[in-house]
Parts: sequence; C-alpha cells; structure tokens
Amino acid sequence: MPTLPLSTAAETNRQVLRLYALAHRVGPIASILAHPQATGDGVDYASVRIRRALSAARRLLALPGVAEHEETPYALSFLTAAERQLNAPTTTLLRIAAAAHKAAARADAADDDLRVVAFRDIEERCRSLVDTAVVAPISGRRGWSARDRAANETLQQHSALWGLTGRDDSGAVLPPPTEQVLRESAELSRRAAERAAARARCAAGIRCTEQTCLSYGAVKVTFLADAWLCAACIRAVDTRLTAGGYAPGTVQPSPEGTPERGRYAVRLYNATGKGSRTVECSSPQRAQFIAETERPFNNTGYTIWISAEPRC
Ligand SMILES: [Zn+2]
Repeated sequence: MPTLPLSTAAETNRQVLRLYALAHRVGPIASILAHPQATGDGVDYASVRIRRALSAARRLLALPGVAEHEETPYALSFLTAAERQLNAPTTTLLRIAAAAHKAAARADAADDDLRVVAFRDIEERCRSLVDTAVVAPISGRRGWSARDRAANETLQQHSALWGLTGRDDSGAVLPPPTEQVLRESAELSRRAAERAAARARCAAGIRCTEQTCLSYGAVKVTFLADAWLCAACIRAVDTRLTAGGYAPGTVQPSPEGTPERGRYAVRLYNATGKGSRTVECSSPQRAQFIAETERPFNNTGYTIWISAEPRC
C-alpha cells in the first residue's frame, strides 16, 4: 500500500525542511559570538537562541526518518558549527568582557579607580584575544597560536580572581577581589593613581581653554562658543578683543552660568583622523575628568559644552 509510505516520506521531508530553517537562522546568530565587540546582551541573546535551536533540532532528529535523510547532514553542519561557537573559549571571553564592562561602570560610579582600570584591562584583553581568534585565510589570519591559547588560560584564571568567570553567575558567587590581588599589578596601580590624580585636579572644574593658561575652574563665557575661561583670561581676552575694535565686555561670564549640576557634553574626537564620541556628564568636574581620562583615539582632543539647561 503506497499511500502510507508516501505520506510518511512527505512528513519526513517537511521535518527536514524545518531542520533547514533552524540551520539557516542559527548561522548569522552564531556569528554574533565571533565578534570581538559583542555586547553582553548580544552574547546572551545568541546563547539563548542557539540553545533553543539545538534542542528543537534534537526533537526533529528523533522523528522517524529525519536522522537518516540524505539532506540532514548538511543542515546539521550549521547547527554543530553554532554549537561549537557557543562552547568556544572565545564565547567565555566575551561573557567575561561583558561582566568586566559592567563591573567597571559600577566602579566608575563609586570613584574606585583601581577597579576601573583593572576591569577595563580585563575587558580589553578579552576582546583582543577574541579578535585574534578570527580565522581569515585570505588575510593570512590563522586563529589562535599556542601562545594565544596559553594567554586565554591565564586570562580566564586571572578574571576568576576578580569574580568574573564568564558564567551566568559571574560576579555573584566568587568573592570580590581583595585589595592585595588588586594591588599586585604595578601597572594597574600606576594607572589608577593617574586617574585619582586627574580626579583631584578636576575637582576645581573645567579647564581654561587659553593655551597659555589651562588653569582649572573656568566658566562658560559669552561670544566665544567653545571657550571656557578663568577670571584672569576673561579680562585678558576681552582686552584683546577691545583692542581689535569690539565693545568692552564682549567676553564675560555667561549669564546662564556654569551650573554645578547640569548636563555637560564632552566630545572626544580624533585629532589626527576620523571619528568622535560624545559623553554626557552631570557636573563640570565630571566633564573635565572624562575629557582627561577617556582616550578613545591615539590623539584624542576634546570640547566641552553645556548640552541643556540645568534640570530643576
Ligand atoms: Zn585662564
């Protein structure tokens, strides 16, 4: 009786098509996990989606005829590649990087300079190793060398000391690093001390933009859009402008003032190339601190402005 086998075959084909649909979707999702700059949300999303696709695939493979179907191995090759990516050490590194990113933001909010530099250092090293893992035969990139593999082991152990394991419980189960662990690295201590010094300098406020002055505690002024001037430079610049034919008092402290709590924007730009990034801050001290400590480019320049009226 041919009806039954035919309908069984049609049903099997239908299930194999579903397997293909899964395989088709999971490829691009797995590629998120190969990206060095993947965010924590991106990694979580990809992990959940891949795990779901794998269990759906297992259910399909248990149905009659699906595992033996001649088209099945090709579909499975995408799913196993995604599974490999999910379980790769680079995915663990991306999870550690995401946890380190969050921990650095918390430390920053608490003015904990040592932890800021330590967590940022971990994040940077994780992402850099993920980048090294990319295999690109055309450009001659071959993935990890034995040395990179060793670096991965060391970095994961090191991160665990800081409470970052790359597992879901990252930062929650392990005890926070002791001051002794934190201070072990002379380089990190040096960078933390630099941040602390910058914070102390910036306590006086925004830096005067006159290149011959650069003293802290400058205020927003009238007439010169991007300028921040100290009291002495307001007088000097106004005198200079008066000599050039402007009315006396053209440059004076801005009537809107320089509020202690306001919305300041710091634009960090590449002074010798393309690119810029803007950071919002809530005080002049923080704005100047960001301007002096965030260096997204080799030659980072900055401008600070008040981005909105202070909130009541
Ligand atoms: Zn000045």
